[in-house]
Amino acid sequence: ETSYMKVKEIENNLSKMLKKTRYEHVLRVRDKAIELAKLHNQDVIKIELAALLHDCAKNNENMYLDKYKKEFEELRNLRQHDPDMENPKLLHCYLGRIVANKEYGVNDEEILDAIEFHTTGRINMTDFEKIIYLADKTEDKRDYDGVDEIRRLSKINLNKAIVKSLDDTIKYLIEGEREISVTSVNVRNYLLKGV
Ligand code: FE
Ligand code: FE
Repeated sequence: ETSYMKVKEIENNLSKMLKKTRYEHVLRVRDKAIELAKLHNQDVIKIELAALLHDCAKNNENMYLDKYKKEFEELRNLRQHDPDMENPKLLHCYLGRIVANKEYGVNDEEILDAIEFHTTGRINMTDFEKIIYLADKTEDKRDYDGVDEIRRLSKINLNKAIVKSLDDTIKYLIEGEREISVTSVNVRNYLLKGV
């Protein structure tokens, strides 16, 4: 792939499109993803692009949904009307895949998958996807109960780190009497077998 937008250009675009706090989060996710990519032998150049673009549709969901209505419908069919696509919090993941492709010239499926599944994870997720998932949840300014343990595990065992992250999330949702994404439970059970 040679049509990637250059990193500087991506940064410029994102700094205009995202709220300041969101943009700063993205830069921290980049640093964390690069750190983890080195520890787990993943392509650092590609991980940087995925990390920078993981939230590229954030703050502009309605505008992008309008602009890429057709692409979104295609993805919805491809995903067999996955109920996660109706979740407003996850909209930026699906749109992110489309925006990374259409606006930032990314054709690499590994990068696009990592963007799409960065919040929920998925069955059969690759180490590349796991790193983007974990970098998002453990970047330096993330501060919640258990984050240090997930950070520690991320460096030595990606599966264990994600299971811990999902367990904490599921517990938290139960405490708050909130809905749990079926995907989280499935991904947890899937990774548990490999842990
Ligand atoms: Fe996100
Ligand atoms: Fe994020």
